[in-house]
Amino acid sequence: MKSLYDFNYEQIQEFALEQGWKKFRGHQIFQWLYRSRVKEIDEMSNLSKETRELLKENFLISPLTLREKQVARDGTTKYLFALSDGSLIESVLMQFDYGKSVCVTSQVGCNMGCAFCASGLTRKQRDLTSGEMVAQVLYIQQELDAKEERVSHIVVMGTGEPFDNYDNVMNFLATVNHDRGLAIGARHITISTCGIVPRIDAFAQEHTQYNLAISLHAPNDELRSRLMPINRAYPLSELMAALDRYGAENNRRLTLEYILLRGVNDQPVHARQLAALIGRRNAYVNLIPYNAVDEKGFQGVDHAAAMVFYDQLMKLGVRCTIRKEHGSDIDAACGQLRVKHLQKG
Ligand code: SAH
Repeated sequence: MKSLYDFNYEQIQEFALEQGWKKFRGHQIFQWLYRSRVKEIDEMSNLSKETRELLKENFLISPLTLREKQVARDGTTKYLFALSDGSLIESVLMQFDYGKSVCVTSQVGCNMGCAFCASGLTRKQRDLTSGEMVAQVLYIQQELDAKEERVSHIVVMGTGEPFDNYDNVMNFLATVNHDRGLAIGARHITISTCGIVPRIDAFAQEHTQYNLAISLHAPNDELRSRLMPINRAYPLSELMAALDRYGAENNRRLTLEYILLRGVNDQPVHARQLAALIGRRNAYVNLIPYNAVDEKGFQGVDHAAAMVFYDQLMKLGVRCTIRKEHGSDIDAACGQLRVKHLQKG
């Protein structure tokens, strides 16, 4: 069954008109979903019983249910949700000093096949609907409502490749970003992609204020193709050209994500190649501590080694940061909690 969360603000008003209702009904339903954040259609008390019955016959509010929740000492909370078809997905709530950020899953499994990533241990089964992405944020927001706290940031960095599910991801973000939705500011929203060039071009043309993060992870084609199969389709020269087109259309600073893998991409030569690759572009490198995935055989670096790489980049004139680790005492790596459940059967 479709979820009411699948409609963005314009679509729910169109739906109301199609039903022969006033457009305002759509607006009211949206208010119930995103302002009152009701969990049951019957709570929409300014709708007639007839209207509520019609909605109940055709729609769910949330298409997901909680299966498991893990809370780390630093407050990082990992949610395992089951979708209506039984598929399992993960979302993560992270606490920062600047606010609360939700990491959203965009697909069940992933086809990108990155060598180090737990998400690709299972092939993509399907794309998430936009409602299933909205529902991840709403579930967590409803929990926070009890404490009068709010989700202030969103990162589309859970399982899946958001640019392989482009329309649904953009629709989801339209709803959470909308003033009458959750009103999460566009500059507080980050989409991370492994580098699907045609979609980077499409995204550049949308002229949104969302942040774009690119999973780079290697500074040369030989290594990047080994770590990330997408590089065989869109090698670095094509990726960097797309980032330049994006830069020409959008005056936004890019994030380049770089997981430090011990002995693989963490040597001084890699820092030099990375600096040369980035050149004078408006970008900064986010160095990511690797969450070891048992099945993958890669190792991360310790903080001291990360600092060495960081210093090398800084000396070469590359702006960079080291991502703080969150929830390291729970199944924190992308897709780990889900994979554990799938293995348990
Ligand atoms: N498919 C998108 C978004 C999901 S992955 C992308 O590739 O960007 C989000 C980020 O987490 C990516 O940079 C990804 O490479 C990184 N990542 C994957 N597995 C990881 C792990 N075990 N430890 C740390 N980062 C990881």
